[in-house]
Amino acid sequence: MSGNYDILIIGSGILGVSIAFELGKLGYRTLNIDKLPAAGFGSTSNTCAIIRTTYSTLDGTAIAYESLFSWKNWRTYLETDDELGLAQFKETGGLLIKPNGFDMTRYLKLHDRLSIPYEIWDRKKLLQRMPHFSDDSFYPPKRYDDPCFTSKSTEKINDTVVFFPNVGYINDAVLSVHNVQRAAENKGGEFLFSKKVVKIRQSNGRVIGVQLSDGMTIKAPIVVNASGPHSFLINRMAGIEGRMKIKTRPLRHEVHFVPSPPEYSYEKDPIQVSDGDLGGYHRLETGKLILVGSEDPECDPKEWIEDPDHFNRAVTDAQFKTQVYRLALRIPSLPIPNRQKGIVDLYDVSDDWIPIYDASDLKGFYLAVGTSGNQYKNGPAVGHLMAEIIHACENGHNHDEDPVKVKLRHIDYTLDTGIFSRNRDVIQNSTFSVLG
Ligand SMILES: Cc1cc2nc3c(=O)[nH]c(=O)nc-3n(C[C@H](O)[C@H](O)[C@H](O)COP(=O)(O)OP(=O)(O)OC[C@H]3O[C@@H](n4cnc5c(N)ncnc54)[C@H](O)[C@@H]3O)c2cc1C
Repeated sequence: MSGNYDILIIGSGILGVSIAFELGKLGYRTLNIDKLPAAGFGSTSNTCAIIRTTYSTLDGTAIAYESLFSWKNWRTYLETDDELGLAQFKETGGLLIKPNGFDMTRYLKLHDRLSIPYEIWDRKKLLQRMPHFSDDSFYPPKRYDDPCFTSKSTEKINDTVVFFPNVGYINDAVLSVHNVQRAAENKGGEFLFSKKVVKIRQSNGRVIGVQLSDGMTIKAPIVVNASGPHSFLINRMAGIEGRMKIKTRPLRHEVHFVPSPPEYSYEKDPIQVSDGDLGGYHRLETGKLILVGSEDPECDPKEWIEDPDHFNRAVTDAQFKTQVYRLALRIPSLPIPNRQKGIVDLYDVSDDWIPIYDASDLKGFYLAVGTSGNQYKNGPAVGHLMAEIIHACENGHNHDEDPVKVKLRHIDYTLDTGIFSRNRDVIQNSTFSVLG
């Protein structure tokens, strides 16, 4: 450690490393501190790494589309190599299925505004392209033990199915974070692992550094909270939690793996699907598997976690059956394994499931939190916008009164970062789910 830092970043997940990289480009000397032994070992390690552009707000859609250009041109974005190799973007295409009566123009208008390509398929085309699919509707989503679980609605799914050709997923999320760590180091950034921040040090209303659990103190006039599901604890340490209108808390989530059906071709059907009719999503996973998750329909109980260091990391029978059986309604030939496999991790959920990218009431203390299960894909754009917010505020700009505007690099759009304010009113047109 050189010991002389402009900015400390708590966390080395996808957001922490992306922020370090962008701050390094502006000439700041950064140190990321993480209590785990390597970058990307926190909640990012269990992300499904789905890259899609469907969000409920224009700004949310814009940062997703903007980031897609970096994922697609990863080596160019990183400006460096990594001895471990580079993560790969798998351009699978993505399908959006909704129940009958859902107004698809909600998403399409945002995509039109940003010139994001999509195709409209009707049910007939869906069945031509995905012959192993059922077009029956089972809306509203139910738990597997609901007596009406398999009851078909009298209507079919929405006749407007949207196909997004250039979305996909990243094949190795932890490697992608390591790649950005190397990119940040290439700009002079430093990393400290296996060290836990236990105190945010302050003087005269300004942050002056952090204290670690081994008693060591590290000085810097700027600290960024990018601690994922631990964000509320760090905000409490900084004494700002009570002064934020929008708060964050950890939510436990399960994702399951099942074998793909025999007729599902890894080569011909490389599609990831958001299925609002069933309240779930799925995508193909390496090893002829399908990965399946929940889109938080009302019937799925929410398991809020008090202590993000202690929660049940085992797959539960009820959630496995609910998520996997729902998928079997859409793909009737889906093999259901006896052995229930999956991963369990935490979302860092904000009150309206829209992230907080902002300054705070403590001078020099910044927030990249509340990622609500859907911000892995946005790492590149979030790194950029956080660096711009920090740079502007540290040069005297009043971001609370006049939110920083960020001209995006790849698309013709200027982001009003006020939408990500800690003091916004709850965004009512949010989906209040992982869909953002
Ligand atoms: C099951 C699951 C599936 C998901 N699927 C998708 C998806 O398909 N697409 C998508 O875009 N997003 C998805 N997400 C969301 C996405 O993964 C997260 O939004 C993103 O990874 C959060 O990154 P982060 O850097 O904020 O947090 P993290 O990766 O959790 O990093 C925070 C880091 O802070 C460290 N830390 C915490 N407290 C301290 C402390 N006191 N001292 C030092 N270090 C500390 C932690 O060790 C951790 O490494 C998913 C999330 C989950 C859980």
